[in-house]
Amino acid sequence: MKVAVFSTKSYDRQFLDAANAALGAGHELAYLEARLSAQTAVLARDAGAVCAFVNDELDAATLATLAGQGVKLVALRSAGFNNVDLAAARREGIAVARVPAYSPEAVAEHTVAMILALNRHIHRAYNRVRDGNFALDGLLGFDLKGRTVGVVGTGRIGATLARIMQGFGCRVLAYDPYPDADLQARGVAYASMAELLADSDIVTLHCPLTSETHHLIDAQAVARMRHGAMLINTSRGAIVDTRAVIDGLKSGRIGRLGLDVYEEEGDLFFEDLSEQVLQDDVFARLLTFPNVLVTAHQAFFTIEAMTAIAETTIANISAFAATGRPEHEVPAPAAG
Ligand code: NAD
Repeated sequence: MKVAVFSTKSYDRQFLDAANAALGAGHELAYLEARLSAQTAVLARDAGAVCAFVNDELDAATLATLAGQGVKLVALRSAGFNNVDLAAARREGIAVARVPAYSPEAVAEHTVAMILALNRHIHRAYNRVRDGNFALDGLLGFDLKGRTVGVVGTGRIGATLARIMQGFGCRVLAYDPYPDADLQARGVAYASMAELLADSDIVTLHCPLTSETHHLIDAQAVARMRHGAMLINTSRGAIVDTRAVIDGLKSGRIGRLGLDVYEEEGDLFFEDLSEQVLQDDVFARLLTFPNVLVTAHQAFFTIEAMTAIAETTIANISAFAATGRPEHEVPAPAAG
């Protein structure tokens, strides 16, 4: 099948080519650097499928253009599908596939890396020592043992993180509309969101971005947090109201902030913009805080995860070519 692969980087090409060969799939993969949007959808002409990533915009206009060119499948290289208008895809007769599970450890372990770095100020210590400054003032951390970690969303990634943090001797509180019985048996206590915010030294977000979780962490939620608590978001940027957390950082309510995702990351992340003037003033303000650590949506980026993403993506495309249905289809919302 001919597939137009959008938002391609060298590493995507490397892992997709390897999976295409290893699975003997023989798909014709046309690699495009452009992000998929209503303006760039025309680049998918002649392709039966498009392969897209987290910051590609699959809104109604994009999907209409794709459908007009004969595209029948969107194969996402991600677990999240918040960037796809599923109702529009259904109307246009386009199936949407995703990679539901690919190394939850990759994201959970990156979350732990952020927690440890922020707690012990590793990002500051690294620069100080290189600068010949060996003073410890400002680098005071705390023992994780005995601290309370609040995990919002205990699906694959949240559950993996909960188990890791229990290994540090932390008490784990969780909030999820669908509690995990296995985690409960391991001693994870489920609470309301308000209780979790009030009781946690570290709050970490692992729920999907939906209309319900959009700005889940807003000014009201920040006000409920423990003074000086740590907040980590490795899920999707818009779960956090960035302006509200900036206010929380200024007041000291948020003592440490770790972000692997940002609500306006589409114009920034995955690109080398080091020669350009940063135009996003909200993001620029975030970078001024010594107790903020931002990584550019790299939590998934391990060999194991990239291999699994590529193999599942190729398998989705092969299943669609053979049967008209991908292996891991995102169900379309009911017609209404
Ligand atoms: P999952 O579907 O296994 O788990 C999501 C959990 O969130 C489920 O248990 C669900 O019940 C729960 N949930 C739904 N609505 C909720 C709400 N309102 N409040 C609290 N919990 C709620 O998904 P996963 O594989 O664990 O991934 C979680 C998210 O992580 C994805 O949706 C994606 O946005 C993000 N992610 C980020 C990266 C990255 O590189 N930073 C990589 C992969 C996934």
